[in-house]
Amino acid sequence: MIGKGSKLYSIFGMKCPKCQETPLFENKNPYKYDKFFAMPRTCPKCGQRFELEPAFYFGAMYVSYGVSVAYLVSVFVAMLVLYPSFSINEYLAIAIGSLVILGPYLFKLCRAIYINFFVSYDPSAIEDFKEED
Ligand SMILES: [Zn+2]
Repeated sequence: MIGKGSKLYSIFGMKCPKCQETPLFENKNPYKYDKFFAMPRTCPKCGQRFELEPAFYFGAMYVSYGVSVAYLVSVFVAMLVLYPSFSINEYLAIAIGSLVILGPYLFKLCRAIYINFFVSYDPSAIEDFKEED
């Protein structure tokens, strides 16, 4: 299910959505802030552009909003099941604290999700790109 060729492989592996062989970010570790935002302009293997249009990744903010709300609801439900007598302050401390810690990872994950909306897996793109050279 999460094998090569699926969207989940590209998203969680943070790889080029077209060939799924090269990393989407220059620095894959979200907790190392050196070159945090840096992405190659194009994929070196298949030639896929990573910024499809100017300011392309503004749209990833909407994905990030949806993912964050889903995460906060999940934490709420998990606390209802595991620790039903929690107070609202405990919920806020755990939910917002963990969201801040997960923030850099979610930032990169949401960019990977967003570009996968628009670019599909195409293994023949590598051969086509080699022929153009
Ligand atoms: Zn590629």
